[in-house]
Amino acid sequence: MADFKLRVAENVVGDFFVDSSCIDCDTCRQLAPLVFGEAAEHAYVWQQPGGPEDRRSALQALLSCPTGSIGSVGEDSAKTAMADFPLLIEGPVSYCGFNSSKSYGGNSYFVYHEAGNWLIDSPKFLPQLVRQFESLGGIAHIFLTHQDDVADAERYAEHFGSQRVIHRDELSSQPDSELVIDGTEPIELIPGFMAIPTPGHTAGHCVLLVGERYLFTGDHLYFDRHEHRLSAFRDYCWNSWSRQTESMQRLTGFRFEWVLPGHGQRVYLPGSEMQRQMAELVERMRAS
Ligand code: SF4
Repeated sequence: MADFKLRVAENVVGDFFVDSSCIDCDTCRQLAPLVFGEAAEHAYVWQQPGGPEDRRSALQALLSCPTGSIGSVGEDSAKTAMADFPLLIEGPVSYCGFNSSKSYGGNSYFVYHEAGNWLIDSPKFLPQLVRQFESLGGIAHIFLTHQDDVADAERYAEHFGSQRVIHRDELSSQPDSELVIDGTEPIELIPGFMAIPTPGHTAGHCVLLVGERYLFTGDHLYFDRHEHRLSAFRDYCWNSWSRQTESMQRLTGFRFEWVLPGHGQRVYLPGSEMQRQMAELVERMRAS
């Protein structure tokens, strides 16, 4: 619960504010960029919502903030936006919201599939979100990109009887996982769902490619909205930058049009543009 007395100085006056507990995870700026801005080490409200759509996005950001650092003194309750989650992105893919502080505010995703739905990484375990997942048919599989973003996966797996998928080198974060990936070769988990090991950020980091369109990238790859190009977090590479570069090179052999990261901005790019930007990124990584 945000504390009005601890609001940061940069907030413009109005209903919404950010307080000093913000960990600068970027979630609010991804969800409501017309409301939340970036100060030196925290978010702030740079413009109050101008209409109902912006206000709804700001409420969604309030609910998704991992540290409860966003407050609103308006008359509408954030509860009105709870039913928005999971928030449709495109086709079978939705963003879960309710980012967890256990994953430093990492994004998680829900993929509808007629043979059993998928969760990619984990949001907070909350009754209202659980009910939403139940109404959509539950969760059969939980794909865990790496150890940092497992959050409440164990509780979701226990509740839904889900099969958790994780690489062996990340297993210490989720030791009872039902399906363990070994090595560096891609594995088709079910038709159209390919796990691709991408060591580098961590030793057993994996991405998930769905239908040659959606690439769930964990902390391997994201879109830098300031530079308008694909990028990778060198400052947050815990295992090996050269391995991450090699993994990025291998990814250029796959087709996809969406990059859906754990941290950082998601993006849609037409296939040819995605391939061009991937090749450029590999060159920049090699040169750095
Ligand atoms: S979502 Fe919350 S913690 Fe993350 S940047 Fe915004 S206010 Fe800060």
